[in-house]
Amino acid sequence: MRRATTRPETETRPMNQSDTSPATTAGTGAHAGPLPEQAITARRVDKTYRGDSGASVHALKAVDLDVPRGGIFGLLGPNGAGKSTFINILAGLVVKSAGTAEVWGINIDREPRLARAAIGVVPQELNLDAFFSPHEMLEVQAGFYGVPPAERRTMEILERVGLAEKAKAYSRSLSGGMRRRLLVAKALVHNPPVLVLDEPTAGVDIELRQSLWEFVRELNTNGTTVVLTTHYLEEAEELCDRIAIINQGQVIACDDTRALVQRLDNKELRITVGEPLDALPGALSRFTVDLPDDRTLVFRYRTRETEVREILSAVAEAGLSVADLSTEEPDLEDVFLALTRGAVPGNSDGG
Ligand code: ADP
Repeated sequence: MRRATTRPETETRPMNQSDTSPATTAGTGAHAGPLPEQAITARRVDKTYRGDSGASVHALKAVDLDVPRGGIFGLLGPNGAGKSTFINILAGLVVKSAGTAEVWGINIDREPRLARAAIGVVPQELNLDAFFSPHEMLEVQAGFYGVPPAERRTMEILERVGLAEKAKAYSRSLSGGMRRRLLVAKALVHNPPVLVLDEPTAGVDIELRQSLWEFVRELNTNGTTVVLTTHYLEEAEELCDRIAIINQGQVIACDDTRALVQRLDNKELRITVGEPLDALPGALSRFTVDLPDDRTLVFRYRTRETEVREILSAVAEAGLSVADLSTEEPDLEDVFLALTRGAVPGNSDGG
């Protein structure tokens, strides 16, 4: 649904041409020298798609982005924001219009083959050749990346993604979840230090999603830098240590997950009191507080300014007892909505 098949493909590079094959070298060993600080660096990366009809789409607008080595990085944004375009530029599948980008410290224009060897992309589409078995598919992919037969880890990778038993089965017999895992396996054949998953859990059931996330965490623990795009904001919050939010081709926020959430430093404390109230007691007037019904007080406060115990002692001071109490914190969804609406909660009191 996310991508129209009628879209002009003129600017998309075919991956099956030998002159576009990535370098033979696989994994981190390909790039001698110290490990780069950033797994990905983009500077003023711009992309305008020009269709056959002359219409153009400005998909990326001077994107600056650093993805630190070793983490799980989330790229969030609504449909059409430019996430796939960005990823496809890094993977050498789409030609950017301007700017510079490096993958694992390798400039994608100066050393495209080496740069492509440093990144594995798990695409959104579940397109797989129905008549190839997973084993054959990984072998073909390894051949494409120039991984010599002696260095191939086909069965090891299939085991890692839980598909060893299906190694020789027709791909058309695989379930949706298995196909997804096979795509991850394909992206791992050349042992890239950076793995990108484009909307990996779209259309995937909750159980499989959990096991996919576990797998991603495991890969990350073993040293792979992971970049993922997702609409599941809660999961991004749970999984990613750093998040960039992209909207209409621009990065509108990029921060450590916790800091990003804290930028919307608004909390809510809901107290059910033991005694019915006609009006707000004067002892509570210094707070931002509502009385939606005669037994409920809803306090809105900033953690930087107010502590819960201050509120609770003021409630006691007003002669009220607390029958029940709950708090609500902003999640990434709130941050995301605030940012994309333009109401960026900055350092001021705008949030
Ligand atoms: P996202 O991955 O965030 O959904 P995309 O990168 O797929 O966003 O798309 C960004 C914008 O570029 C959208 O307006 C989309 O329609 C347009 N676009 C993407 N690919 C092409 C293409 N091959 N030709 C023309 N326009 C494209």
